[in-house]
Amino acid sequence: MAGTGGPANDAAATDGAAADGAATEDVRLAVYRHFAETGDAPSPADLATRTGWSAAVVRAALGRLHDRRDLVLDPGDRVRVVLAHPFASVPLGFSVMGARTLWWGGCAWDSFAIPHLLDAEPEVLVATRCPACAAPHAWSVDRKAPPDGDQVAHFLTPTARIWDDVVHACSHQRLFCSTHCVDAWLAATGRPRGYVLDLPTLWRLASGWYVGRMDRGYVRREPVAAAAYFAEVGLRGPFWGLPA
Ligand SMILES: [Zn+2]
Ligand SMILES: [Zn+2]
Repeated sequence: MAGTGGPANDAAATDGAAADGAATEDVRLAVYRHFAETGDAPSPADLATRTGWSAAVVRAALGRLHDRRDLVLDPGDRVRVVLAHPFASVPLGFSVMGARTLWWGGCAWDSFAIPHLLDAEPEVLVATRCPACAAPHAWSVDRKAPPDGDQVAHFLTPTARIWDDVVHACSHQRLFCSTHCVDAWLAATGRPRGYVLDLPTLWRLASGWYVGRMDRGYVRREPVAAAAYFAEVGLRGPFWGLPA
């Protein structure tokens, strides 16, 4: 995957903005491909090797990608990739095991999205624990149909607020045994009720959300502007930016 355009772009880099744009897209793709293949975040050196861009260009591109929400950098060093949705380099309650690769699954939404995004891994094992009672749960998640199960997802943060603190929002998109366990967790933590989804709705939400993200030229979908998609997959109400 090295040399996906970097050196050629260096030679043609008479226009700084165009070169920035090319480097940014090269680095974005390299981040996603590294996560897809290895399950972990790439270092700046990994990204320089994959793209052919210098370490300084890679760091600048990471900053631009963070600023436009294509990924989330560690706020401390602004270099380590914490989230490149649906991938994560930190545990947020889920593991996703493919045939060849093991990922931290991000949140419930992200974990269910990984088999839809990766052509090489169309069926994965998603595992988690109920946040209320710690019971373990696992599902085979594929592209064909929602997994069996009467567990429910609970999302704490309304879509309009997700990017206020995206790591907090992701870490509170979890799967529970039942609405009883959701209620017990809300009571124990003093949190306000968010939104409860059954597994088929979660699976539909995840199925198309990240379409195109592994491809060059992808433009990310902003949750606050995605009400039509949310309605189409069966979500309702102001939590999703939809009418009450
Ligand atoms: Zn439970
Ligand atoms: Zn997430």
